[in-house]
Amino acid sequence: MFKIPLFKAFEKDTWIKPFLKQYKRSLYLALFLGFMTFFCAGALMFVSGYLISRAASIPENILLIYIPIVLTRAFGIGRPVFRYIERLTSHNWVLRLTSTLRLKLYTVLEKDAIFFKRNFKIGDILGLLAEDINHIENLYLRTVFPTIIAWILYAFVVIGLGFYSLWFALVMALLLFVVVFVFPLYSVLLNGARQEKEKQLKNALYTDLTDNVMGVSDWIFSQRGTDYVTSYVANEQQLYDIQNELRKFNRIRNFLLQLYFGLIAISLILWTSQRFVGDHGGAANWIAAFVLSLFPLIDAFAVLPDAAQETNIYKDSLERLNGLAEKAEVSPTTLPEAAALDLRIKQVSFSYPNETKNVLDQLDLVIPQGEKMAILGRSGSGKSTLASLIRGDLTPTKGSVELAGIPTNQLGDSISDTIGVIQQTPYLFRTTILNNVRLGNEAASEAEVWDVLDRVGLKTLVEQLPEGLQTMVDEAGLRFSGGERHRMALARILLKDTPIVLLDEPTVGLDPITEQALIDTFFSQLSDKTVIWITHHLQGIDQMQRVIFIENGKLELSGSPQELFETSSRYRKLKSIDEGR
Ligand code: ATP
Ligand code: MG
Repeated sequence: MFKIPLFKAFEKDTWIKPFLKQYKRSLYLALFLGFMTFFCAGALMFVSGYLISRAASIPENILLIYIPIVLTRAFGIGRPVFRYIERLTSHNWVLRLTSTLRLKLYTVLEKDAIFFKRNFKIGDILGLLAEDINHIENLYLRTVFPTIIAWILYAFVVIGLGFYSLWFALVMALLLFVVVFVFPLYSVLLNGARQEKEKQLKNALYTDLTDNVMGVSDWIFSQRGTDYVTSYVANEQQLYDIQNELRKFNRIRNFLLQLYFGLIAISLILWTSQRFVGDHGGAANWIAAFVLSLFPLIDAFAVLPDAAQETNIYKDSLERLNGLAEKAEVSPTTLPEAAALDLRIKQVSFSYPNETKNVLDQLDLVIPQGEKMAILGRSGSGKSTLASLIRGDLTPTKGSVELAGIPTNQLGDSISDTIGVIQQTPYLFRTTILNNVRLGNEAASEAEVWDVLDRVGLKTLVEQLPEGLQTMVDEAGLRFSGGERHRMALARILLKDTPIVLLDEPTVGLDPITEQALIDTFFSQLSDKTVIWITHHLQGIDQMQRVIFIENGKLELSGSPQELFETSSRYRKLKSIDEGR
């Protein structure tokens, strides 16, 4: 049987359901109050209709007028009062739900940023934080409550009419069935597909636009700016088209819905006139009563198609929230104290998701604590991938990467206490130099910061700045040269004092003299640590204890620089190329 997508998502849900159980009572109260609001509105019209007709004839008894007047007042006051309390209850309920959900979300995120980063794209995270919980909020206020209330009203109306006439109750059950179930279902199914398409188009446009804005200078330099704009406009048109279709559908549907309500009103008039004409004591008294009470109910029923249609949006949010909980279940392990921090890469194979090619293929490698090792290899040979595996940011497809016997991907965030990383382009934040260096260790004193700046050779530079450590680093650290930024990154690592340091091509893009000076600083300062140095250049390589080559995902060569120089012609060739530049 076909299922509305939201229901499917809801079956597997572990985020909302427990909450529904916990706050059952206020949920029922909100639904009851919602029903009462419409009941009062309907009853108000019913009594008024009766009163108008009755007052037009000669009443036999003043009570026949007086009681309806009192009732009119009661229902008239009851409607806004119930509505107000209903709003209070349902919003209170929903806000409590969403605050619990937010708390849950933050706890899940907080638990481990690394696990999280590994499993989600940034866009998903932002989506989760910003939108999904709001969607859930609307799901209740705009869809679940109105729908359930409308269903209760539906049952109430049909049963109520059943007291007057069984067959007419059946007719109304059928007529209203179309409004309450057929229209909404039709909307979900038809517009659901369109909404899905709209969402895909929007996402594609968004990704495409971001990508091209980042590369806008290249479009302009190649003088193809207008080409891009043309292609963008064409894609955007597709989105507009589908949005127009959506709107057109809604317009026609709403029009049909109104016609349909007209039809129901007419059938009510026909039935009441036929049923009550000739009744004892003022024939037409009930006609206005029945027909008028239909109109407030329209308010309750007319929102259903839109409410149903929105479930398509909620489905995604619900699925994402649930997916999050599943993936974030893992909790980090800690390193055994006082164990030797040897890194063991055991038979590791790795391929990126949705890629067939193995980037690493049964790689075996042991890096004892304190070793200085260089990793060489062609561009794309998997060096950075290996670095991510070592840091536990990626999980091997086969085999394992262990630090002191613990798989690194189980260490979570705590890995950054053990392994420090310097990337090709270290990032400096738009805050003071002091804060930028202290990123390594928030508790460090200014004296300690000066000490590490001295060790990385930045002390004089910072001293000369008018505001010293308090100097603001502008956005992305542009006021510092590449070499200075690397020194800053090294200062962070020294302050953090991690026993293992991973350098991923930290000197790319520097001139040979700066490069040599930087390498000298790195190795003199990191002399007591394990150093894993990924590089293209062989400059400074003689300071390493071991050099390995990665090719086709395997260890191609391994040995001390002297050994390799003596035994490998390839190494000699590379070295002469490098020196001869
Ligand atoms: P370079 O010296 O240029 O930095 P590298 O040795 O560090 O290269 P990696 O970045 O590890 O190489 O990439 C190894 C292979 O994996 C490449 O073929 C690359 O295209 C592929 N690759 C890297 N990252 C991803 C990713 N996120 N998804 C899919 N494939 C990837
Ligand atoms: Mg790389």
